[in-house]
Amino acid sequence: MSALIHTDGRQVRQALHAEADVVIVGSGPAGAAVARECARSGATVVVLEEGHEAQPKDFVESGLASMARLYRDLGTSLAFGPAPIPFLQGRAVGGTSVVNGAINWRLPRDVYDGWVQRDGALAEALPYQALAAAEELVETRLGVAPTEAAVAGPKNLLLAKGAEALGLAHRPIRRNVRGCVGSGRCLQGCPHGAKLSVDRSFLLDAVAAGARVFSGVTVERVRVEGGRAVAAVGRAAGGGRVEVRARRAVVLAASAIQTPMLLRASGLGRGPVGDGLMAHPGVSVTGRFTQAVHNHLGATQGHEVTGLRHEGIKVEALGFDVALVASRVPGVGRDLARNVERLSHFAVWGAALKAEAQGRVRGVGGRAWVRYALTPLDMKKARRATRVLADLFLAAGALEVYPGLPGAPEVVRDAQQAAAIEAGGPLDARAYAMSMTHLFATARMGSDPARSVVGLDFQLREARGLYLADSSVFPANTGVNPQVAIMAVAHLCARGLLAERLRAVA
Ligand SMILES: Cc1cc2nc3c(=O)[nH]c(=O)nc-3n(C[C@H](O)[C@H](O)[C@H](O)COP(=O)(O)OP(=O)(O)OC[C@H]3O[C@@H](n4cnc5c(N)ncnc54)[C@H](O)[C@@H]3O)c2cc1C
Ligand code: SF4
Repeated sequence: MSALIHTDGRQVRQALHAEADVVIVGSGPAGAAVARECARSGATVVVLEEGHEAQPKDFVESGLASMARLYRDLGTSLAFGPAPIPFLQGRAVGGTSVVNGAINWRLPRDVYDGWVQRDGALAEALPYQALAAAEELVETRLGVAPTEAAVAGPKNLLLAKGAEALGLAHRPIRRNVRGCVGSGRCLQGCPHGAKLSVDRSFLLDAVAAGARVFSGVTVERVRVEGGRAVAAVGRAAGGGRVEVRARRAVVLAASAIQTPMLLRASGLGRGPVGDGLMAHPGVSVTGRFTQAVHNHLGATQGHEVTGLRHEGIKVEALGFDVALVASRVPGVGRDLARNVERLSHFAVWGAALKAEAQGRVRGVGGRAWVRYALTPLDMKKARRATRVLADLFLAAGALEVYPGLPGAPEVVRDAQQAAAIEAGGPLDARAYAMSMTHLFATARMGSDPARSVVGLDFQLREARGLYLADSSVFPANTGVNPQVAIMAVAHLCARGLLAERLRAVA
């Protein structure tokens, strides 16, 4: 076992009891940030994580194999509505950061102002300066820096070229990597150990300060006694029951899907728990160039177009294994065979949408049951984003673009055809192959108990000592990649929790 793991749940066959000041459920960006801050402040900390530790040497190139090993539900989680939309989550020590694209964004000021406009009390709970200071800390620890051209690879450089030609603001993506060689495998786990996911940064710091990480332990509920959270209870992968008592606090950092599920499973469903799920559904488009692009190589996601953020559209180069591209090439029979032969000439770019839709999360038999229906406005955004992606490909010099939309031309060769997508393309969600990777707002923080689940101190209104630290507490989606903001908010949660402890001692 590595230095990171104190107890591997696969080896726990008998009942296991432990105790700590702070018990944290989930070891992703949110849980790791709380663990680090609490452990460094002298609190004893136990982190309970359902997934297992994953080492660079274990990561494989195959997307399917990686999903089976590192993603929840083997990567098959679905949100149901008029169109089923897959949503992806990691399940490992380090959470989704182990398989994410290493993109970093601070919470944009306009997004923050929008939150405070809706609930002025948030300015006090999440002061902008404190949030910015926490983001600075996160970025420094994660070594966040713009992607270097030397490792970007053609797909990212071509996106830059397209955006430049269209006059859209764009930039190399700011990534949390050190020694990246541009192998394009961030979403399968970095085999070079170059991505500073939280298992290679914040969790290491937490463990160095005395935190204990129990992997392979699924928390099933929080035990509440006398209106106060006193323990996290669950089972180890080896079959043993696990109970970790919390002297000060239980912190839920299990993600915007699993945190509300845990609350409800614990009988803590008062208020809009699990309601209001917000996300960034993504659309993607494929283009073919004269030259080889090798979409699966280069920094996985190394360039982004920021100039349409005010419309709720953010474009990024995409990367996964070659199967991603293979699944997107058009044609049947001989045409398909020809396209597969020149697979290296295809690139896939995507756009994340700041959707206004609000869904619902419930747990059924321990699994998430998610309802999510995009609004007509969201669908217009999806259609526009598809047109923008086509325009970018054409401006970058692509010979052909394949929007992959039933009801739109199979092949787009000029800007007029691209514009026709926005004017008359489908507005039915079933026409779009979307997926979601950023999830928010299922147990919101706020001053109004009817519209929020946690108070301004991050504590559940229904149970003292029960803190929520992940993007469940966000009042809305952000329109940008959320991991830095999640860690910063979790850091503030930890500071609040520690201050509360000091108040209790005094
Ligand atoms: C493919 C992909 C790419 C992404 N790329 C980016 C990116 O480039 N930049 C960015 O900012 N964001 C990205 N994201 C999103 C980002 O990774 C997440 O928003 C972030 O990891 C969420 O942090 P979290 O701590 O709330 O949850 P998670 O990271 O999901 O961690 C939660 C952890 O809790 C554990 N857990 C859940 N339930 C239980 C339970 N009952 N008992 C014990 N443990 C439990 C889970 O196994 C998991 O490990 C990406 C997401 C995906 C899926
Ligand atoms: S692009 Fe490759 S080397 Fe760079 S961080 Fe991602 S997986 Fe690691």
